[in-house]
Amino acid sequence: MKAVVCQNAELEVTERPDPTPARGQVVLNVSRCGICGSDLHARHGIDDWADITAQAGYGRLGRSSEPIVFGHEFSGEVADYGSGCKCDVPTGTPVVALPLIRNDDVVDGVGLSVHAPGAYAEQVVVQEPLMLAVPNGLPADVAALTEPMAVAWHAVRRGEVGKRQVAIVIGCGPVGLGVILMLKAKGVRTVVASDFSPGRRALAKQCGADVVVDPAEGSPYDAAGDRGHIEDIPSALELAVGTREKLGRLPVGWWHVWRAAEKLGAAPKHPVVFECVGVPGVIDSIIDGAPLFSRVVVVGVCVGPDRFKPAMAINKEIDLRFVIGYTPLEFRDTLHMLAEGEVDPRPLITGEVGLHGVEEAFSLLADPEKHAKVLIDPWATSPT
Ligand SMILES: [Zn+2]
Repeated sequence: MKAVVCQNAELEVTERPDPTPARGQVVLNVSRCGICGSDLHARHGIDDWADITAQAGYGRLGRSSEPIVFGHEFSGEVADYGSGCKCDVPTGTPVVALPLIRNDDVVDGVGLSVHAPGAYAEQVVVQEPLMLAVPNGLPADVAALTEPMAVAWHAVRRGEVGKRQVAIVIGCGPVGLGVILMLKAKGVRTVVASDFSPGRRALAKQCGADVVVDPAEGSPYDAAGDRGHIEDIPSALELAVGTREKLGRLPVGWWHVWRAAEKLGAAPKHPVVFECVGVPGVIDSIIDGAPLFSRVVVVGVCVGPDRFKPAMAINKEIDLRFVIGYTPLEFRDTLHMLAEGEVDPRPLITGEVGLHGVEEAFSLLADPEKHAKVLIDPWATSPT
């Protein structure tokens, strides 16, 4: 079969042996595979990333010297089952799958390891229990977005955003756009999106952002108007002392009322900020700009070291969370949200290429004006 192999930062279409499914595994004919920002990064910087995952106990991420087939965001059709499979899904059925595969005692990430070649190829191997039939005739290109949209769904769930809270999305690349779509699907009324690129701001609008901001011209943190957020230390102190004074006028002990209000969820109003850029300095700028008590969910992947001022985050009691991936349930739910039409991620798809067009697509994706998500159709005969 044909596949795009990355080795020493070179992308090349090569002929590889057809994959054979091990026990419990399934071979898919790949229908579409998304090019992810992490693939762009991995082409030049996978060694730094592999060092980090090795420190955290996973030492099998690819190295730049190894021939790696990228591709973890894919849809396909069932081609062949290995032994010991249940074979519930007939051959030819459109499916998606979580990009994880069991190799002996280890689970490997598909598309990021020589041990688990990805879907920049005509065929890919998946784990049967992680495979899901695509419902409702959802087209293959939209189904391929299940994976990146599941990343967004997990981030939104970890953000615990209330419908009346303001959500602020910093960075409107594919990750930020996915987060905007999922926030709107969850019913969050006010979503502010911020990006320097006019093209990306236009896509953010299409994805349902209520307010879009050019951060060169205005702050995303007050773009939604006065929402009762605490903007500075004097306001926080005034809230504490003022509340204590007011409760002191009641005929019962103020501490009883305070405790009851806490139980009912009373807390200072705050936005939830999603960091979807992943370059050094962004977390620091969010901590500097965001209101006190903001929750910050870091979705963008900054592989190198970064700096921020803990004392600023402390003075503002910033709640900083980091997220990765999704659970099998979140992946399944995302597929069904797409298939039921609760979320329409089609604005993200800005291009489609064949295997011979992958190298050029990597260059084009460097320009935020031109592209968000480019899909690969490995069976396409022309490069673009
Ligand atoms: Zn991805």
